[in-house]
Amino acid sequence: MSTPAKQVIVEPAALLAPGSIAAPEYSAGELEALRASIKQLLIEKDAVLVAHYYTDAEIQKLAEETGGKVSDSLEMARFGNTHPASTLIVAGVKFMGETAKILNPEKRVLMPTLKAECSLDISAPSEAFNQFCDLHPDRTVVVYANTSAAVKARADWVVTSGNAIDIVKHLHEKNEKILWAPDKYLGQYIKRETGADMLLWNGTCVVHEAFKSDALTNLKKRHPGAAILVHPESPDEIIQQADVVGSTTALINAVQNMDNETFIVATDNGIFHKMKQVAAGKRLIEAPIVGEGATCVSCAHCPWMAMNDLRNLKKALETECNEVHVDPVIGRQALISTQRMVDFNA
Ligand code: SF4
Repeated sequence: MSTPAKQVIVEPAALLAPGSIAAPEYSAGELEALRASIKQLLIEKDAVLVAHYYTDAEIQKLAEETGGKVSDSLEMARFGNTHPASTLIVAGVKFMGETAKILNPEKRVLMPTLKAECSLDISAPSEAFNQFCDLHPDRTVVVYANTSAAVKARADWVVTSGNAIDIVKHLHEKNEKILWAPDKYLGQYIKRETGADMLLWNGTCVVHEAFKSDALTNLKKRHPGAAILVHPESPDEIIQQADVVGSTTALINAVQNMDNETFIVATDNGIFHKMKQVAAGKRLIEAPIVGEGATCVSCAHCPWMAMNDLRNLKKALETECNEVHVDPVIGRQALISTQRMVDFNA
C-alpha cells in the first residue's frame, strides 16, 4: 500500500499554461541571416547543437543540417556525452542543460535561455524531496530525467520515458521497492506495466495533464481509422484510449511504421515537425486539450520549450551567455545515477 507523497505547493506564478508562449516567427530575410550566423558560430566556437523534438522546427532543422542531434532527452544525453565538440548548445529546458553538464563537466554547456523550466522539475524541490526520501530509506530512489541536478544527486537511478519500464522491471526483478518522482501519471503507468512496488511523488506535466478524455473519445469517433499515440506523462484515462504508449521516439517510430493513414497524437505538438519528416503524407491530428465546446484545440505546446528560438540561440553562441553551471559536488553525485541511465541496456 503506497503512502501519499508529501504535497509540495507550487506557486501558480511559477507555472505557465500550455500554449501560452507563441511559437517564434521570422521574416524570410531574418531567417536566412540567423541560420547563416549560427552555422558560422557553431564552427568558430567548436560547438554542436543538441535539440529536443519539442523545440522550434527551425532549431531542429539547423541541428540536423550542422551535424548536431534532434532527439528525446535520453538520446540528447547520449549524444552530448560522446560528441567531441568542446561546447554543447542545448535547446530544450533547464534539466536538459544540467544533464548535459552533469555528464560532461569538462565541456561548456550553453542554452538559448536559462528561463525554460519544466513543471515536473519545479514540482520536486530538492529539500522537500530529500525529506521524502529520508522517510523511506528502504526504497530505491528512481527519478525521471525531468528533475534538478540536486534531485538527481539524491537518486539511485535516473530514467527517461524511453527506458523507465525496462529499468523499473530490472529493479523489481531484484525485489527492490521503489520511490518514484516526480511525474505521478508516468509513475502510475510504470507501476501497472511492471507490477513493481512504487511510492509516487505528486508532480505533473502541464502539457500532458491538459489532454481531455471525453474530447479525445469524440475525436476518435470522427476518425475511426486513426491510431491514438500517447506519451505516458498523460493521465490514465488518455492512456487507456491509446493504441501506442511511449516516449517521443517511440511515437515517431509508430507514425513511420504503422499502416494507419491518420494519427491522433497526445504529446507536445513540436513533435509534428519530425513526424512529418519521417512519414510525409500521413495525417496528424493533435489530441484535444480542452473539453467539448471550447475553442482551443491546438495548443498542446510546452510554454518553456517555446522560449527557445533562433534569436536567443545565436545570442548565446555569440556572447557565450546562458552557460549552465552545476555545483561540482552535486554534479559528481548526480553523475552516478545519470550515468546508470545512459549505460543501461535492457
Ligand atoms: S512538455 Fe511537460 S515534461 Fe516536457 S518540458 Fe514541458 S512541462 Fe516539462
